[in-house]
Amino acid sequence: PTPVHVIGGGLAGSEAAWQLANRGIAVVLHEMRPDRGTDAHHTDRLAELVCSNSFRSDDAEYNAVGLLHEEMRRCGSLILACADAQKVPAGGALAVDRDLFAGAVTEAVAGHPLVTVERGEVAGLPPAEWDSVIIATGPLTSPALAEAVRDLSGEESLAFFDAIAPIVHRDSIDLSKAWFQSRYDKEGPGGTGKDYINCAFDKPGYLAFIEALRSAEKVDFKEWEKSTPYFEGCLPIEVMAERGVDTLRYGPMKPVGLTDPHSGRRPYAVVQLRQDNALGTLYNLVGFQTKLRHGEQSRVFRMIPGLENAEFARLGGLHRNTFLNSPRLLDGVLRMKAMPRLRFAGQVTGCEGYVESAAVGLLAGRFAAAERRGEEPRRPPPTTALGALLAHITGGADAETFQPMNVNFGLFPPVDDRIRGRERKRAYTVRALADLAVWLAEGGEG
Ligand code: FAD
Repeated sequence: PTPVHVIGGGLAGSEAAWQLANRGIAVVLHEMRPDRGTDAHHTDRLAELVCSNSFRSDDAEYNAVGLLHEEMRRCGSLILACADAQKVPAGGALAVDRDLFAGAVTEAVAGHPLVTVERGEVAGLPPAEWDSVIIATGPLTSPALAEAVRDLSGEESLAFFDAIAPIVHRDSIDLSKAWFQSRYDKEGPGGTGKDYINCAFDKPGYLAFIEALRSAEKVDFKEWEKSTPYFEGCLPIEVMAERGVDTLRYGPMKPVGLTDPHSGRRPYAVVQLRQDNALGTLYNLVGFQTKLRHGEQSRVFRMIPGLENAEFARLGGLHRNTFLNSPRLLDGVLRMKAMPRLRFAGQVTGCEGYVESAAVGLLAGRFAAAERRGEEPRRPPPTTALGALLAHITGGADAETFQPMNVNFGLFPPVDDRIRGRERKRAYTVRALADLAVWLAEGGEG
């Protein structure tokens, strides 16, 4: 029998391959690492976590991503089984030992008798003889494949940039210069009025800083990336500095609502840092996404008063986030309308996050399996987390403004308006698990 080809052995592709193989369908899983790397992966393992080691909240009663965990467990998810088996203490979150986790996924998938793992890039449209393909190549889809898909879909905006701002160790911030304060001393519910660390510039210092940003060495854009637009919401700091001397002072460095207790005055410009981890040991520079070279970042950002001796836990960067305009391009069971032998899964479909990517992989695998058996794939009910996410990316979202999306209760059909507060969340999860049980009892996807 002809196998289903899965391209990309990340969170989504590994899950899709597992779902297919467990339904008796042969799979060829194509993974380009280690032949070809990405800017974020470091190993040749399947399902490598590129950044955080957390799958977020595991609370299936009151939290949408916790609910998604539970639904995936009930659907026999490999990613969730391996996460549960390799978890580390993380309060209410499901966090894992990343090496043991990826090792477990790799062993399970590569060890499955119906799965063949082929190492190597699929550098263009899959050959015509592959009659059922799942493309799960993620936010860092290799340029050759991304371009082929872009040509096919006729979409101009297949990709944009996601930005990362630098993070510093709090104990390396000089609090004899910096101070804790929220703008206008308030910061929404639960705020203390002192949620941010502020670093003040006087005028000469600010002007010197802008000049340093402008003249610092930047990482060159690769040819292919030059044609990719920035996402206006997160312009790199040095691009803003280029646009005008005051652009930053009216943007992320605006001084309004802040008084420097050391001088008693409103500063000329301010850099704000926001707590980045629960322990409060790390702070990120708000709005400071950047493509400066790493050495330059340490030099230029240490010009900020209070950060002269800053130790960086992570330097900033921009990375590609390749995703389709799925509401326009995909049908309800994740097939490309223009070429239905191609199905998409994972972050490339415009969902966001490890769990969501794996969830869409799970659905794509099950849909492809149903098709191979000659059955019509059936979508999970929109009242489930799986179904709500699927409905969003395949039609519910506005195609004009489509942006990557985490699972959240706002994607679900509303429950009775009279149910309020915490109970409202519970109403969503109770309804979801009941409806999922019916779907599974009726045969799930097929
Ligand atoms: P991936 O896990 O990236 O898997 C795609 C796979 O396809 C990769 O193994 C890649 O090597 C392979 N591939 C690509 N092109 C080809 C090709 N042409 N041929 C063969 N193989 C190919 N989400 C979170 O929940 N938490 C985070 O902390 C987080 N941090 C992130 C940090 C960065 C830098 C990035 C880029 C994303 C981050 N994400 C995070 C978002 C996202 O959830 C993850 O990227 C997630 O891994 C997406 O899963 P995926 O299966 O769609 O893609």
